[in-house]
Amino acid sequence: MLGNASAVRGPSPLLLDGRLTAGSGGTFPTVDPATGETLGEAADATAADMDEAIAAARRAFDTSSWPADVPFRVRCLRQLREALRRHADELRELTIAEVGAPRFLTFGGQLDAPVNDLGWFADLAESYAWEHDLGRAEPMGVPSVRRVRREPVGVVGAITPWNFPHQINLAKLGPALAAGNTVVLKPAPDTPWCAAVLGELIAEETDIPPGVVNVVTSSDHRLGAQLAGDPRVDAVSFTGSTATGREVMATAARNLTKVFLELGGKSAFIVLDDADLRSACSYAAFAAATHAGQGCAITTRLLVPRERYDEAVQITARALTKIGVGDPRDDGTVCGPVISARQRARVEGYLELAVREGGSFACGGGRPAGRENGFWIEPTLVTGLTNDCRTAREEIFGPVLVILPHDGDDDAVRLANDSPYGLSGAVHGGDAERARAVARRLRTGTVSVNGGVWYAADVPFGGYKQSGIGREMGVAGFEEYLETKAIAESPS
Ligand code: NAD
Repeated sequence: MLGNASAVRGPSPLLLDGRLTAGSGGTFPTVDPATGETLGEAADATAADMDEAIAAARRAFDTSSWPADVPFRVRCLRQLREALRRHADELRELTIAEVGAPRFLTFGGQLDAPVNDLGWFADLAESYAWEHDLGRAEPMGVPSVRRVRREPVGVVGAITPWNFPHQINLAKLGPALAAGNTVVLKPAPDTPWCAAVLGELIAEETDIPPGVVNVVTSSDHRLGAQLAGDPRVDAVSFTGSTATGREVMATAARNLTKVFLELGGKSAFIVLDDADLRSACSYAAFAAATHAGQGCAITTRLLVPRERYDEAVQITARALTKIGVGDPRDDGTVCGPVISARQRARVEGYLELAVREGGSFACGGGRPAGRENGFWIEPTLVTGLTNDCRTAREEIFGPVLVILPHDGDDDAVRLANDSPYGLSGAVHGGDAERARAVARRLRTGTVSVNGGVWYAADVPFGGYKQSGIGREMGVAGFEEYLETKAIAESPS
C-alpha cells in the first residue's frame, strides 16, 4: 500500500497479470495541485506493458473460471470494498493530495461513496436474473423452447480522467467485474496513484485472480488509443472530454468494438420566477465552485428571470466571493486548486475569451492573491454574455459560472437545451409541479429539482447528445458490461 501521501516513498507500481511491477518505461512524477510540489513517482508504462496487460486480461477471460463464477466474483468485490475501507484514512489523504479534492468531498463522491457502491454491484450480481425463459413457441412451425442469457462482454478497456478518479475508476471496475469481465484500467496521467493503489490492494488483499484486473499508469496518452484500438478488447469504457471521446470512438470503430462514453457538459441551472432567488442563486454558486468546477455534471450556466438579473448577479457574486478558494486539506474548503498548470492555462484562456466576447466579471476573473504555489483560479461569475457565446457553450472545467437571463419557462427550457451537451441540469421553483414540468423538458441524462440529489449507486448516470453514449451506475450501467445471448432448443 502506498502509505500516507505526505510520506516519502518509492514509485507506485503497475499491476500486470497479477504482478506488481515497475514496468519497462521508468517513472513519471505526480504533483500536488495545491502546492505544485512533486508528491512522488509512478510507473510509466510503455506500449509493451500495455500489450502485456491486454494479453493477461484476454487470457484470464478466456481460460479462467472468473466469467462464469458469480459467487466468487461477489466475494472478491466485497473483499476489495473491505480492503479500501481498511485503508480509508490513507486513501483520503492521498486523494486530497493528488487530486486537490476538498476534504468534504472525500466523504462522498471522491472516495467513500464509490467504495460503498462496490457492495451495491456485488449485491446486484448476486440477485440478477442472468437467464430468463421466453417459453415455448413455434416460429416457422418449428417447436422451440427459448431462453435469453446475459453474459459478460469480455475484456474491458477502461480509460479514465483525473477529476473524480476513485468514483470513475470504481464505477467502471465495480460493474465490469460484477458482470464477469476482465479489465485493463488506464487512468489519467495526472492521478496515477489513485489508480495504482487499487492495483496494490487487489494484488495484496483480495483473491481476484491474475489478469482479471490490470492497472497501467502512464504519462503517455497514446496508451489509451492503443487500448481502444486493440482487437483483443471487447468493450471500451471511456470517461473524459468530448474531443477525446470522439477519437476513442473512431479508434474503436476499426474493430467495431463496443464503446461506452461519459463525456463533457455545460449544464444549466434554471431559476424560475417563483423560486426563492437568494437560496437558488447561493446553491448555484456552491455547485459551480465545488472542486473548482472540475465536475462534468456541474451546472455552469445559471439561467435567471430577466427582470431579476441584476439582483441574481449580486447574490451569486457575493456567494462565490464568500466561498473563495481554500486548502483542500481543510474541512471547510469547497473550492480547491485546479489539477495542473495546463488546466489553469485552459481556464485562463476562457476568462480572456469571455472578455473578448463582451462579458465582464461580477467577481473573480483570475488567480487569487496569496497563492503563488499550486494552480488556483478564483470562483468567477461571468455576466453580460448570451447563450451563443463560446464561453456559454464550451466546457471550461474551472470555477467559472456564466449567468444568463431568461424570459419565462419556455425560454429557459429553450436556452438550457440550446447546447451541444446534455449531461445534467437543475431547476428551482416555488411550485413543485411547474418545476417538475420544466425538468421533464430538459434533454439531459440527470436533473435535480429544488436541490434533489441524483448521485447514487442505483441511479443511471450519463448524457444525451455530445455528453456521451450509454449509462454508468444503476442496473443500466451494469448491463453496459453484458452481452445478450438467445438460445432456442428443440423440445425433447
Ligand atoms: P481527457 O479526455 O483529456 O482524458 C481522459 C483519458 O483519456 C485519460 O486517461 C487520457 O490519458 C486518455 N486519452 C487521451 N487521449 C486519448 C486517445 N486519443 N485515445 C484514448 N485515450 C486517450 O479528459 P481529462 O482532461 O482527463 O478529464 C476532463 C474531461 O473529462 C472533461 O471534459 C470532463 O467533462 C470529462 N468528464 C466526464 C465525466 C462524465 O461522466 N461525463 C466525468 C468526469 C470527467
